Amino acid sequence: MARYGMAIDTTKCVGCMDCVVACKTENNVPEGLNRDWIQTIVNGEFPNLTMEIRSERCNHCTNAPCVSCCPTGASHYHDGGIVLVHHDLCTGCKACVASCPYDARFINPEGYADKCTFCVHRVEEGKDPACVSVCPTYCMTLGDLDDPNSEISKLVKSKNNHTNLPEAGTIPNIYYLIGDNND
Ligand code: SF4
Ligand code: SF4
Repeated sequence: MARYGMAIDTTKCVGCMDCVVACKTENNVPEGLNRDWIQTIVNGEFPNLTMEIRSERCNHCTNAPCVSCCPTGASHYHDGGIVLVHHDLCTGCKACVASCPYDARFINPEGYADKCTFCVHRVEEGKDPACVSVCPTYCMTLGDLDDPNSEISKLVKSKNNHTNLPEAGTIPNIYYLIGDNND
């Protein structure tokens, strides 16, 4: 069984937001709401500053509080660990929205919890997610983290990286690459 994750190279991202627009178009995301977004983080102290520009979305966590707190089973793990929502089982109670430390979920105006799906409808056809496919700097890679020979596994092994809020205990599956191991 695969464990899908994403590696996002923050040294390549230019913050153009093509991924954000592609996601909205592909997934018909309602106006004023987003399944992915750009975060700019400045690290260090002047004059020794570094900046991360990164495309963020649901981390498809292995220990997802949004799944464990859902009272109806709507929020669930799909094949490959992709965290999805059964729209017909969702009551819109917002428990999952409150439980996510990454603010990755919102309630769709149609009444169900909504968020990034890793474009599972595309991935299951052998395509990349919309965000990955349009990125002009090729900074995003989706793949199987449990396959040591996958491109994503090699990237995570060869580059310095971190996940977002690992202290939350959610075991996120998005890795932000921050430079070569020898940087
Ligand atoms: S990032 Fe949030 S919505 Fe996504 S799986 Fe983790 S806890 Fe759930
Ligand atoms: S909003 Fe829907 S998916 Fe989220 S916890 Fe409530 S029933 Fe489950």
